[in-house]
Amino acid sequence: MKPVNVYITIDAEFNINDSLENPEQRSPIGFPSMARIDNGRSHGLGFILDTLNAAGLPGTFFVEVFSAHYFGIDEVKKMVRQIESAGDHDVQLHAHPCWRYFLDPEWRQTIKSIQKNDSWAGRGESALDLLKEAVELFEAITGRAPKVFRSGNLHVDADVHRALSAAGVPVSSSVGLGLHVPASPALRRWMRPILSHGVLELPVTAYSEPNLFGGERVKCLTVIGTSWPVMKSLLEWAYQEQSAPVVLLTHASEFSAERPGLPNEPKYQANTKNQRRFQLLCQYLQTERHRFCVKRFSDISPGAYPHGIVEKTHYTAPRLAGISRAIGNLWSRF
Ligand SMILES: [Zn+2]
Repeated sequence: MKPVNVYITIDAEFNINDSLENPEQRSPIGFPSMARIDNGRSHGLGFILDTLNAAGLPGTFFVEVFSAHYFGIDEVKKMVRQIESAGDHDVQLHAHPCWRYFLDPEWRQTIKSIQKNDSWAGRGESALDLLKEAVELFEAITGRAPKVFRSGNLHVDADVHRALSAAGVPVSSSVGLGLHVPASPALRRWMRPILSHGVLELPVTAYSEPNLFGGERVKCLTVIGTSWPVMKSLLEWAYQEQSAPVVLLTHASEFSAERPGLPNEPKYQANTKNQRRFQLLCQYLQTERHRFCVKRFSDISPGAYPHGIVEKTHYTAPRLAGISRAIGNLWSRF
């Protein structure tokens, strides 16, 4: 059997900090919300890079660029510099349209009367102008063009893929059934890549988790939402199936909680459970590298994966996984 390709992806973004909902009291938080320092140690970006490097694995960091409208590009460059100086990691394009509201100097007033829209989907042909703006910012920040795009909130439609194709961005990872179900049935993929309007769409891995009542919940493969035994069992399933690459999604915020403090200057506290989970995953992928090949997204060529194939199966977590998670949640609330 062939090794299964695995992509560890990190959405690298600043904290909008509820500022659009509470414009009088709150303001966005820049690089400190990625670094997440407590006691001189990073429990965010630094932790992720250290863990990947300790296992010799590359990560793909989707860097959010529209936050530059609020902070300026130098603040975004700080995280790009740290990622690029840490090793052979990949920096690609991520964008949340909601950050564009800060283009208005009077945003604290005007935002109160605006119907906010943070979705890439449903924008029709105007998706291309939005994408061109994002690509220009990415080029100003990194000095090169993006090869891969991840939409904010994993909202995507055919117009976004058409825009990517027109802008010369050949790969996207903007589908994730556990977070959002695309309106188009053609884009509803658990794992399998699809060619959409000339763009290779490689979804964030989704799976189902049976619940206590005979139903199921669709989830994305994340550090915060997927226990280590389920991650491992999913990887083993993917290897046995030999059907599609595995794409994990995580964020710096998953590795530390915000402690109560001033609303615009939170303090951070390590989330040791999630940190351990990510360390176990990386150690496993290092040990099992003859079966799992961790790659950078920019290494993908658009013809790398067969993409016209109907998706017949998906991974289902063991029934006990959902039950133990429900009990764990109840226990922590108690
Ligand atoms: Zn995001």
